[in-house]
Amino acid sequence: MSEDGRRGGPVIAVDGPAAAGKGTLARRLAAALDLPHLDTGLLYRAVGRRVLDAGGDPADPAVAAREAEALAPQDLGRADLRAPEVDRAASLVAAVPAVRRALLAFQRRFAEPRGAVLDGRDIGTVVFPDADLKLFVSASDEERARRRWLELKGRGVEVPFETVLADLRARDARDASRDVAPLRPAADAIVLDTTDLDADAAFARALAIVRDRLGRA
Ligand code: C5P
Repeated sequence: MSEDGRRGGPVIAVDGPAAAGKGTLARRLAAALDLPHLDTGLLYRAVGRRVLDAGGDPADPAVAAREAEALAPQDLGRADLRAPEVDRAASLVAAVPAVRRALLAFQRRFAEPRGAVLDGRDIGTVVFPDADLKLFVSASDEERARRRWLELKGRGVEVPFETVLADLRARDARDASRDVAPLRPAADAIVLDTTDLDADAAFARALAIVRDRLGRA
């Protein structure tokens, strides 16, 4: 479908809730398939970061839209985009329709030359409803919170597990209940539950699906 001249290669959508392992999976798939990878959460994180830096309220639609329109490439390279306050700010700005509009063209253009693997929340439903393959990666709340807690600990950020679990559930609820581009699997997505899979096993499973569906890798 994608190799018909509209795009230079296949588009693979990897959606799912926070800390389900989709980022790692998308990066590894992209490397195996020699495709560019875009972590679309970083776009929303960078907008949230800009709002916080400007002393603004991420839930204020006018402020969030202004910062999304002013987003510059160097904003995506910042080292502090995964701080817990940015988790929350990102999911607040992500509910603003003008923010999503501002980021949509960038995401589509990214895949034009060679195709791409993109991970996010609405890649298969909104950004690329015609993606060649859609994966929806999920895992239990507790397992996702455990992974996030370990990741934070590894970076020297000590937060009680219960706080991580509560924040993650609040963020998922916000992402799934918003009016624009809510988090949900596309009707034609393949659901990959990684609760009992480590990163290698999830990757092997995903690669087998790619082979089966796209005949590559
Ligand atoms: O994936 P990550 O956790 O980095 O995303 C941060 C936030 O950005 C999510 O909680 C969600 O609100 C938003 N997001 C989104 N659509 C995407 C990717 C991320 O709304 N495609």
